[in-house]
Amino acid sequence: MKTIQLNSRPVGVPKLSDFKFVTEQQVQITDGEMLLKATHISVDPYLRGRMMEGKSYIEPFELNKAITSGMIAEVTESKLAGFSKGDFVSGMLEWKEVQVSKGEGLVKIDAKKAPLSSYLGVLGMTGLTAYFGLLEIGKPKAGETVVVSGAAGAVGSIVGQIAKIMGCRVVGIAGSDEKVEQLVSEFGFDAAINYNTAGSMAEAIAEACPDGVDVYFDNVGGEISDGVMMNLNRFARISVCGAISMYNATSVPMGPRVQPFLIKNSVLMQGFIIFNYVERWGEATPQLAKWLQEGKLKSTETIVEGFENTPQAFIDLFEGKNKGKMIVEV
Ligand code: NDP
Repeated sequence: MKTIQLNSRPVGVPKLSDFKFVTEQQVQITDGEMLLKATHISVDPYLRGRMMEGKSYIEPFELNKAITSGMIAEVTESKLAGFSKGDFVSGMLEWKEVQVSKGEGLVKIDAKKAPLSSYLGVLGMTGLTAYFGLLEIGKPKAGETVVVSGAAGAVGSIVGQIAKIMGCRVVGIAGSDEKVEQLVSEFGFDAAINYNTAGSMAEAIAEACPDGVDVYFDNVGGEISDGVMMNLNRFARISVCGAISMYNATSVPMGPRVQPFLIKNSVLMQGFIIFNYVERWGEATPQLAKWLQEGKLKSTETIVEGFENTPQAFIDLFEGKNKGKMIVEV
């Protein structure tokens, strides 16, 4: 059975050689354990941070050890109370085709209620991130203008749609004309901007947001965010969710100083991690599922086939090759 380990700490954009495949012996389970066969692997931008040494909200990955991320797996054998052969589980697992688990941190999921992959996306970590980051920090009110960057991705596409449900005017920022078109035609955004062809982001935002920006949900940081921040309204809120444009930087990125804009407009800016809301996840998932059922929320996934393609799928996030949630189907 194959496992994917961190071979070297990436410098700049991750490369395939930063990962290695190792074949391990088939394992046996004892009492209190179960055997899991991976079915779906979530590849996420935050894993890039865990590949680096240094203090963060979560431990870095160790070299020559399996990488972990959100995964779905099928129970193929169980000597663990509460879990039976044929159950599906979701949680943080190792990038292994097959692994032994004591069930810690795993929840059983119902394959009949929703597609298995959705438990890694709209009904999983990225859906929850969109929900709490927008509603708890952005606090959007009907009639306000919400701008979201990384808008065609897993988190961003859900943020924009929830903002529409809240009655806001929604403007998305993404990296291709195809994604921009999808945001408007499929997800119901009011306008969208391709940051690769827009020229000045500050001007593009001013044009797309004639009444200014009340809520900015930031997935990317860097120059895109500088441009949005120059168009904020009085008492605007910025939900700082991610900064993917800076994750591969090899030196500290510099930009215009935005503090005067924030002071002048009494702006509130707050970073967050989704684990801050872990005790409230149970209230969000049913609401997201209800919106999905009602057709108010649409979720898109980019499914990459094959365990061996997991490292490439992760690398492709930094090239914007995904639309919606990037998932590997094992
Ligand atoms: P996405 O599905 O949005 O995938 C990443 C996307 O980022 C790509 O598709 C690409 O889209 C865009 N991108 C890549 N490089 C750049 C760049 N240099 N500049 C601008 N955009 C870029 O990922 P997620 O939805 O999973 O995550 C989105 C953000 O949210 C990430 O920053 C992530 O770290 C963060 N996050 C934070 C969490 C938290 O708890 N705070 C939890 C989950 C995610 P495009 O084609 O538009 O460039």
